[in-house]
Amino acid sequence: MFHSSSRRVFSCMDSEKIILKNLSQSEMEEWVQSLGHKAFRGRQLFQWIWEKGVENFSEMTNLSKDFIQELEASSSLELTTIHQVQTSESQGTSKFLVRLGDGKFVETVLIPEAKRATVCLSSQVGCALDCDFCATGKMGLKRNLTSGEIADQLLHVRRFSDRPITNIVFMGMGEPFHNYDQVIRASDILNSESGFAHGARKITISTSGMVPQIRRFADEGHRYKLAVSLNASDDESRTQIMPINKKWDIAELVKACKYYTELSKNMLTFEYVLMQGVNDGLGDARRLLKIANQVFCKVNVIPYNEVAEGYLRPSKKRINSFLEVLEGARFGVTVRWSQGDDIDAACGQLSTAAITENG
Ligand code: SAH
Ligand code: SF4
Repeated sequence: MFHSSSRRVFSCMDSEKIILKNLSQSEMEEWVQSLGHKAFRGRQLFQWIWEKGVENFSEMTNLSKDFIQELEASSSLELTTIHQVQTSESQGTSKFLVRLGDGKFVETVLIPEAKRATVCLSSQVGCALDCDFCATGKMGLKRNLTSGEIADQLLHVRRFSDRPITNIVFMGMGEPFHNYDQVIRASDILNSESGFAHGARKITISTSGMVPQIRRFADEGHRYKLAVSLNASDDESRTQIMPINKKWDIAELVKACKYYTELSKNMLTFEYVLMQGVNDGLGDARRLLKIANQVFCKVNVIPYNEVAEGYLRPSKKRINSFLEVLEGARFGVTVRWSQGDDIDAACGQLSTAAITENG
């Protein structure tokens, strides 16, 4: 049954209307049943919202007029709106400023490339983990997003994009595993046949290394891809740039990563943001090689996008020397030259701190 407690959680405080986008498919089916309708009406409603992306109940042509009236009286399709879109003329990347119901903002990025179009989703307003090099970290955590607020970002981008979305990454604002439940609920909407029908292996969740959640993710058997931001290969440097390393150090993190790959049989990606003089030495590369060789993984090297004071992108020459050390590794190595830096839409450049309503 649809419990009254969850009704409270999903309803909008002032009007007591149910916010439909915050319901999972099964909750929507239960809710519709609690109104005296068949469960499949709930599925149809879910399809209208996510698969077809309609904005008005009147467009739901396979639902009866009476049912639509009932929906209009008791529920709402509204959740977030697009406040601004900026497109980089040189790179084609678009950054969406998304306004939430309480006036706070998050950013979503669309990155079109030759053969793919990637959407970078936010999971929180700001982030609590305070990585020293990251613009989002500098905002602190304002609040978690709901599953509907996360999935709504994709609806906006899908409407805007003239090409189908091929990849979804949780690499926008926030630490997805610090908002674990809502991120998984949102991923399930993206993945559902009645939702966006987006393949699980084309949805990547990136974590800064929250060990209990990595283990939980493994235990629950999710098929979404996992990326882990390693960013340094010794505890001293990692603690300096990522305070989370004080809680779970590299050895514990690697143990959890192995637990995940062994249980899921899935490869994970280590992300390694290269910062001059911080983690880009040949010794750093050798230690990285040793760590990553123990795990079923690939390594994604990300030359730093300059946002925080005191951190610089290494020269091409230094980046190449670092990469040479990784040649012959057991794992694959890719280099991500972030797109969108001219409109501050690249990794780690997302921040809505300057917008007063986010205060
Ligand atoms: N909180 C999650 C996901 C969002 S950050 C995480 O930390 O994994 C996504 C990626 O961007 C992470 O790998 C992070 O290390 C990287 N990143 C953060 N700031 C960056 C910057 N200024 N330049 C390049 N990459 C950055
Ligand atoms: Fe948060 Fe990720 Fe930025 Fe660290 S890098 S502050 S975990 S968003």
